[in-house]
Amino acid sequence: MTRRRWIAEHWDEATATIVGAQAEHMARVLRAQPGMEADVVAGGHVFHAEVAAVCPHEIRFNLVAEVRADPALPVTLVLAVYKFDRMEWVLEKATELGVAAVAPVIARRTEKHLAEAAESRVERWRRIVHEAAQQSRRSDVPLIYDPAPLAVRVRAASESTRIVLAEQERTTTLRHALDEAVAAAEEEMPTLEIAIGPEGGWAPEEEALFDANGWRAASLGPRILRAETAAIAALAVVASCLE
Ligand code: SAM
Repeated sequence: MTRRRWIAEHWDEATATIVGAQAEHMARVLRAQPGMEADVVAGGHVFHAEVAAVCPHEIRFNLVAEVRADPALPVTLVLAVYKFDRMEWVLEKATELGVAAVAPVIARRTEKHLAEAAESRVERWRRIVHEAAQQSRRSDVPLIYDPAPLAVRVRAASESTRIVLAEQERTTTLRHALDEAVAAAEEEMPTLEIAIGPEGGWAPEEEALFDANGWRAASLGPRILRAETAAIAALAVVASCLE
């Protein structure tokens, strides 16, 4: 039977602790008792563990043995802030697909009220990926960066292969750009940043900014996809290429 996986908030070499809603659920609904077995994620590693102590808001585990875990896809999604309900859907699905990090950015066509509210949403976004990571039995939780202006992210120094998805691009497919990144990385696994525009798409000056900073434009095909479709399709292409 597949054991449920818990993501610890605190840990040391021998023990790990979950708190808050996770702990309450385990204590009250699952009636956790000392000795109960569980899989616990601590510091990016997965352990076979046993419950050591149960309090209503905190469960402590003894870590018994590390078990093999699959690494995240080495991809940071640079996601232009747009309608929050759709963005949250992207965060959940991208976590299931293995994304390593999401960097929300304020683009020229991000609606003003969403740009202003983005900062106050970050904790909620972090909770969403935490729950999705647990549900999908990941061994880590994607990093959610604080929202930043697009130009800051585009200009930042990076070792990654940086790809901007653009529906106007006709020559380079995402698959082609990935094949080149894999070939260039030789024995290593390439790390990637993939940028996805808001509902209105990238403004011309943003396309020029990407270009001037070494980002490669790539296409997901001849149809115009919604941003959330583009995000999921891109991660599926990356997974099929790298995993
Ligand atoms: N500019 C368009 C418009 O408003 O008609 C659509 C923008 S699309 C909804 C949002 C983002 O999804 C784009 O900025 C791009 O990053 C990505 N995207 C959508 N379709 C794409 C495609 N066929 N190839 C590459 N990226 C695509």
